[in-house]
Amino acid sequence: MQTNVLGYPRIGSQRELKKACEAYWAGKMSLEKLQLTARQLRRQHWEILQQAGIDLIPSNDFSFYDQVLDLCLMTGVIPSRFTPLLKSLANANSPELYFAMARGYQKNGLDITAMEMTKWLDTNYHYLVPEFEAEQQFRVISTKCTDEFKEALSLGIHTKPVLLGPVSFLLLGKIKDGQLQIADLLDRLLPVYLHHLQSLQTAGATWVQLDEPCLVQDLTPEEHALFTYAYTKLKAGLPALHIMVATYFGSLQDNTAIALQLPVQALHIDLARAPEQLETVLQEFPSTMLLSLGVINGRNIWKNDYSRSLALIRQAEAAIGTERLLLATSCSLLHTPYDLDLETDEQVLTPQIKSWMAFAKQKVQELSELQQIMAGNTALLAANRQSLQEKSTAAIVHKPAVKARVAALTEEDATRLSPFLIRQRQQEALLKLPSFPTTTIGSFPQTEEIRKLRADLKKGNITPEQYDTAIRRAIIDAVQLQESLRLDVLVHGEFERNDMVEYFGEQLEGFVFTQHGWVQSYGTRCVKPPVIYGDVQRPQPMTVQWSSYAQTLTTKPMKGMLTGPVTILQWSFVRDDQPRADTTLQIALAIRDEVQDLENAGIKVIQVDEPAIREGLPLRKADWDAYLDWAVKAFRVSVSCVQDDTQIHTHMCYSEFNDIIDHIAAMDADVITIETSRSQMELLEAFAAFRYPNEIGPGVYDIHSPRVPTTAEMTELLEKAVQLLPARNIWVNPDCGLKTRKWAETEQALRNMVAAAREMRANV
Ligand code: GLN
Ligand code: ZN
Repeated sequence: MQTNVLGYPRIGSQRELKKACEAYWAGKMSLEKLQLTARQLRRQHWEILQQAGIDLIPSNDFSFYDQVLDLCLMTGVIPSRFTPLLKSLANANSPELYFAMARGYQKNGLDITAMEMTKWLDTNYHYLVPEFEAEQQFRVISTKCTDEFKEALSLGIHTKPVLLGPVSFLLLGKIKDGQLQIADLLDRLLPVYLHHLQSLQTAGATWVQLDEPCLVQDLTPEEHALFTYAYTKLKAGLPALHIMVATYFGSLQDNTAIALQLPVQALHIDLARAPEQLETVLQEFPSTMLLSLGVINGRNIWKNDYSRSLALIRQAEAAIGTERLLLATSCSLLHTPYDLDLETDEQVLTPQIKSWMAFAKQKVQELSELQQIMAGNTALLAANRQSLQEKSTAAIVHKPAVKARVAALTEEDATRLSPFLIRQRQQEALLKLPSFPTTTIGSFPQTEEIRKLRADLKKGNITPEQYDTAIRRAIIDAVQLQESLRLDVLVHGEFERNDMVEYFGEQLEGFVFTQHGWVQSYGTRCVKPPVIYGDVQRPQPMTVQWSSYAQTLTTKPMKGMLTGPVTILQWSFVRDDQPRADTTLQIALAIRDEVQDLENAGIKVIQVDEPAIREGLPLRKADWDAYLDWAVKAFRVSVSCVQDDTQIHTHMCYSEFNDIIDHIAAMDADVITIETSRSQMELLEAFAAFRYPNEIGPGVYDIHSPRVPTTAEMTELLEKAVQLLPARNIWVNPDCGLKTRKWAETEQALRNMVAAAREMRANV
């Protein structure tokens, strides 16, 4: 049974590629040096896989920025706004153009915006969205896939090049012209794919992996036809090359028949995410195909359960025999950190918890161990069983009191005392806010000094007392500024927080952090998510001291500021031994305790941020309701303990609400603040159509830009808002938190914002 890895992380175990790219962009590293770094990384990765005895080793999984951007250059998909830059270059295949497409270009009298970025299916990785234009032609600009195949070959390593397949490439892109038919685009695109695949064939490649993750999404009959058409065409032009179509992050379901009819030599399925699909796939599996079993989870950081994987392998073996099976990672290992061996600080990650984990390098090892187990090595299986057994009974993982509390949750726990209209009256009586009340989303500028304070505290350069004093000083300044700007509901500024999830993870039981657990988020940006390994519990209050201190500084309401359970879950590595819903409810109870403590401390406005609710949506529409039901329930559990006159806010950014508005309404927050300014209030239309009853703060200015908005443009947006929703329900606030802004622009923008609110008040 051969082993197959779908892709490997590329940023470098010490984030070498990140550092090299950023140095190159800053003009501090030569192109030659950058390319050398890249070659060294590719070589290292290939050698790790080779030494682990992997049979199908990926190539072209490397990228300086993003694999979809690479493909755009391999196929000539360059948005026309880059034409002036393109013309100024001697060679289109230049890093100048490549990085300009990724990051935008403001040089030599040109000002070109970058390509749009969006989340890669349901991951936290962001790809650059291909833009297909009216006169779209395809051509070969870069020959990256063949270059890298040859590079590996010259090192004595025969690889399997990986490319995003043509149909998913088109489906995941943006068609800029309504007239344009995807089938026409495909027709024009296929010759370019054929060109690349033929040159790979000529260079000696035997296998190529074409990723078609869209096969696990809902597809129309027209889209089904695209797959059949594309692969029939490709196959006809490639007598010697074997194609593996790779699917991941879900189940084929109603696309199974289409996938199985493709004239290709192998199909890869994700059995970590969707083990249940194995049975249906095996039923109809054609005798001409190999099946790649994605049993090693490429999305988490946990050791594989060999017994469970073995059961799947045996099931496949019984149906189609061993010869046609491959053992594989479920998806590319891009979404896992590099190497657990780098976690050497036992204060950070205890040996016990570490012994339950596996990063990319370990997962590759697991593939070869599974292979050995299949060949009769029972010791490896026994050791794995023992480790899993130990985890399943460990006292630090399983806390009966926490599980009991979740099990005892009732509908009442998730419901406010009175309906919104009654609460609204009580809140009005208590808070006495003007119409069009003004507020901000929570964070104020995280300046160099604030960041340094945290670093100094960590290094022991300052005492916790000195740290507290400095943070209090920042809070005093922020409160004074807000008072002088005459904002209505104030915030303390979140100066004590490194990150909205990490801050809470560090204080909750059941979370650990790693030293080197970086994963690529986009380009050179990496994140180090917290790891939820066990039942979650809050040992003590997490924010109360800061919020109540801030409240002592003002007679205006001070908003308590928390991160919601779904967002904490979504931005962490989660445990794989219980449903996500259960973990979320545990977090919800911890947040609920904090909400209760804030209220007890006299905080009467409490915001629970849930920016990640939408990104947790499953890939298939049929699964949306089930997810939203528990996500909304978790939010409600976390806030429903308060009195009617305590006002609960929530905040969401990067969202479209159309198709989930009923669930958003079911959250029943007294006030929701959303990002809307860049869409010119368009996002509010969903709320209007739904007759959304609760209060709402549509963001009136974009916080992603240093630009100071004028009062007039904000009143204009507010005028639009009152066309759509009752004026009584409208709040005035920016799109999101202000942590990335500078003080000067923040002050000016908020001054103009308050002026806009006052104009609105004068007009009603
Ligand atoms: N309260 C957070 C802040 O202001 C919200 C951040 C977010 O929505 N991403 O920073
Ligand atoms: Zn936000």
